[in-house]
Amino acid sequence: STFSDLGLAEWAIQTCKELGMRKPTPVQTYCIPKILAGRDVLGIAQTGSGKTAAFALPILNRLAEDPYGVFALVITPTRELAFQLAEQFRALGSCLHLRCSVVVGGMDMITQAKALVSRPHVVVATPGRIKVLLEENPDIPKVFQRTKFLVLDEADRVLDAGFEEELRVVFQCLPKNRQTLLFSATMTSDLQTLLELSANKAYFYEA
Ligand code: AMP
Repeated sequence: STFSDLGLAEWAIQTCKELGMRKPTPVQTYCIPKILAGRDVLGIAQTGSGKTAAFALPILNRLAEDPYGVFALVITPTRELAFQLAEQFRALGSCLHLRCSVVVGGMDMITQAKALVSRPHVVVATPGRIKVLLEENPDIPKVFQRTKFLVLDEADRVLDAGFEEELRVVFQCLPKNRQTLLFSATMTSDLQTLLELSANKAYFYEA
């Protein structure tokens, strides 16, 4: 199939072409139409499979249709991954004037809080730092009140690292009617449990 077959807008198809993405990878072919249709998805896919674009492209498409507030919160286990994800979002969203903030440990919290209060479209965060911001600054939970998408990237690693408590705080601050997208290199029982909490009908992809 081609990117045009997946229901993406023309600008997105054009952006993929410009980035040298000639045709969708399997995880993209499976997940993009489901995410565009409003479903929750659990994708088991390795780094290098194109999983980032598999969630970033449909999120950006929905954002372009109806932009408001913080549209998507992406949680990832490490700072390095957070910066890489933000870079991919910015590249894929280059023609949307996308505002994307990275919220990770080891950097100034006041600057991060200010960035969040200015309501970027996409927030990429590590679990520890977003938890502290949500708990310690009363203005931050409001920022996420209408978030449309929660993505857990490398979800197996996030859960392995013992971030259940951090995730609980994050989940509490997000609306129930959001879409949840889980991406993981391996299937684990923790992920199964998370998937069963899904409000929307969830789809399961495995490479
Ligand atoms: P990821 O699996 O998300 O870490 O992506 C791995 C790399 O593959 C990234 O550098 C992407 O830019 C690239 N990529 C993603 N989708 C495609 C595609 N459909 N065709 C070619 N390259 C892609």
